[in-house]
Amino acid sequence: MKVDQYSLSITDRLKIEDGENPQEVIFYGQPGEGAVEYARQFVGDMGKTPEARETLIKLLNEELPGIEDRRVKRCDYCRYLWRDDSLRNNRKSCCEDCRQARRKLQKRKEREREELINPKPRKRTKKDDYVYWIEYPYWSNEDSMLAEAERYEKPYGVETLDYLDTQNQIYGEGNGKRRTSENGYGF
Ligand SMILES: [Zn+2]
Repeated sequence: MKVDQYSLSITDRLKIEDGENPQEVIFYGQPGEGAVEYARQFVGDMGKTPEARETLIKLLNEELPGIEDRRVKRCDYCRYLWRDDSLRNNRKSCCEDCRQARRKLQKRKEREREELINPKPRKRTKKDDYVYWIEYPYWSNEDSMLAEAERYEKPYGVETLDYLDTQNQIYGEGNGKRRTSENGYGF
């Protein structure tokens, strides 16, 4: 099995668990306590030397003697090798931190699945009252229309309104500049 070292986001971990990782690669983040303890048996007091590094890589590649032990497993959270010293040899994570992190991950995954199967409806907004998909779009709710319009159109000030009022009295309503006649019939 090929080994590579990356720290991994939770999403990526989930992807890998779902079999989306195309290569035979194990990704590593921080080793848990149990994994560190197990690795210490091999590197002992080598310190941060090239030998220690090489030994650790061999360990990750399962190339060291002793790891055929039935009690030696990969932690289901941090993915490093560790040795299960529990009585029944039935633990899956190398330490308490990893166990809890793993549980959190599973819960999250369940929530995500649930969300996928049973998506929450999107919150209704004022824009939903606008029937835009027909030839003559309209608002089905006036309050929504006004609220939406106010976001784009500044209301006129008093002076402008006065001015428009005067203009309307002279020329009539609308944009055409046709002077209204005295009798209202255009002559
Ligand atoms: Zn672990």
